[in-house]
Amino acid sequence: MRRVLLKLSGESFGGGSVGIDTDVVKRIAQEIKEAVRPTDGSSPVQVCVVNGGGNFFRGEELSKAGLDRNRGDYMGMLGTVMNSLALQEFLEQEGVVTRVQTAISMGQIAENYIPLKAIRDMEKGRVVVFGAGAGMPYFSTDTVAIQRALEMNCECVLMGKNGVDAVYDSDPATNPQAKKFEELTYTKALVDNLKVMDAAALSLARTNDISMRVFGLDVVGNVTKALRGGSVAVEENGDPLGTLVHV
Ligand code: UDP
Repeated sequence: MRRVLLKLSGESFGGGSVGIDTDVVKRIAQEIKEAVRPTDGSSPVQVCVVNGGGNFFRGEELSKAGLDRNRGDYMGMLGTVMNSLALQEFLEQEGVVTRVQTAISMGQIAENYIPLKAIRDMEKGRVVVFGAGAGMPYFSTDTVAIQRALEMNCECVLMGKNGVDAVYDSDPATNPQAKKFEELTYTKALVDNLKVMDAAALSLARTNDISMRVFGLDVVGNVTKALRGGSVAVEENGDPLGTLVHV
């Protein structure tokens, strides 16, 4: 069975502000369910998820405000756990058994990260949500998404973004002439410093040859489309969904 990793930006959980927008998380959970337990006869997909935490804290921003960077990064990692618990709650409300595994031990609320168990859970049709990033400061959840996808042997990474539907050569919010990429290489993203994800994540994906589809979370149905289509996911009109980034 196909297996994919979904990366959800922290911003998407907050609906653009601090905290959790439960309507958004509920909708994303319903869309994940449609891929894991399809009601329309499609083939089910094995899904694991890495959440961002930027809707709560980012260590870099906290350090600019005077906090120690390491402590700020740990606060950021804890934010990803709150998002993971929210997603678990709404997935379970939909009847999808969900396990949260964290890179920092917190036995009362989540399991430790145990890769082989995560794979077994997905084989049983459970969704596995990875929280607390890599458990180490100075990493991003994008880098963790690539690492987990590689370790879970996922066919691709599906990078859901808030407020943008693909990769552009400049910010489409400020430049109406911004060009949208249907596909591009990791090398181009690195050389042109495109705002896809940080250089460490791009480099890890390039070195290990895993493809990634960047798509917008704002459009209802996109999560299901991305999970079902993976690297060949398309819009209703047949156009590629967002941007495919590859080696
Ligand atoms: N973080 C970290 N190590 C990790 C993952 C995350 O230190 O392995 C911290 C870091 O401060 C980061 C914050 O957690 O800014 C939230 O994660 P991220 O910024 O990647 O979330 P997103 O941008 O996707 O919302």
